[in-house]
Amino acid sequence: MNDFLETQAFLASRDVDGRYVNGKTIVPLLNSFGAIKIGESVVKRSIHAIDMGNGPIKILIWSQMHGNESTATKALFDALCYLQENPLFLTPFTLKIIPMLNPDGAAAYTRANANSIDLNRDAINQSQPESKLLVDIFHAFNPDYCFNLHDQRTIFGVNGNPCMLSFLSPAADEPKNITPHREKAMGVIGYIQNALQEHIPNQVGRYDDTFNPNCLGDFFTQQGTPTLLFEAGQVGQDYARKETRKWYGFSILKALQCISLNLYMLPIYHKIPEVEKSFVDVLIQNLTYQENQIDIALRYVEVLDGNQINFIPVIHKMGKLDSLIGHRNIDVSNKTFHFVNTISIESNAVWLADLLNLTHYSH
Ligand SMILES: [Zn+2]
Repeated sequence: MNDFLETQAFLASRDVDGRYVNGKTIVPLLNSFGAIKIGESVVKRSIHAIDMGNGPIKILIWSQMHGNESTATKALFDALCYLQENPLFLTPFTLKIIPMLNPDGAAAYTRANANSIDLNRDAINQSQPESKLLVDIFHAFNPDYCFNLHDQRTIFGVNGNPCMLSFLSPAADEPKNITPHREKAMGVIGYIQNALQEHIPNQVGRYDDTFNPNCLGDFFTQQGTPTLLFEAGQVGQDYARKETRKWYGFSILKALQCISLNLYMLPIYHKIPEVEKSFVDVLIQNLTYQENQIDIALRYVEVLDGNQINFIPVIHKMGKLDSLIGHRNIDVSNKTFHFVNTISIESNAVWLADLLNLTHYSH
């Protein structure tokens, strides 16, 4: 498995880079894996599936249900390239993979689909072609496990550290009972966590497990299929999420390894700390403004511009913000600024960023 980390640079999937990953970007990879069209989106973009392996354990994997969550898709292709090169690893499995469930959202770089519906709140109604397709495939394929792949926002931390990866075995009912199926998914996540702690200690979290039957992960767990939620997070200034991508691909492969070796590590799952909404992109500390000393928290809004994503700072909070941590912290206590504009919440903060010499990111 360590060879996955060493061969990263040579994987064919490395040609797909940057935060903007849409249906066109992945065409060469879809072709190389012999993907077939399984359905269409709201505006008739094709949705594809890749079939790999013919072993006894069936796993259904999907990514980019949220169109702007591309790290997961890149990491998934990294893992698939590794499996293609290492067929022995694949022997126990039959995988059905939908790399981009929401191609309209991916093209527009939005979370929702073309009808502005969050597919992950559509499990019961299945009002959208994309969510209906996933549920239909689920019933037809009848998987032993589901892997539900996402990116999370930059706001999540874990015990004061940035949260690079988070996981969840979703609840199957309101009281969040630990059913045998949930327990299985928990055991797999425990195995992943055990491996990750060697490499990225204290940067892995567990998502909140409040039951929501409209979320597809909860819905599939309720149907009796162990389901793992994977979330790619933000660490430091890695806005391209390259480091996250590496450990995300590693985690997908570790999940398969756990299942093939039957090495579930349930107690470790329960020790994973829950994620906290403790981070902002930039924290400006001790700014003298209108004769007070304040902190200003900035968040980046991600805006599609041609073939790249620009990260535009907006003011999220002002005041004494001791409970927040910045992916970047700037103490300006010994600086004096002359403000032309009034600083207000949710205003575009590009001018403020310019004043402070902040980097603008594009990926
Ligand atoms: Zn998501």
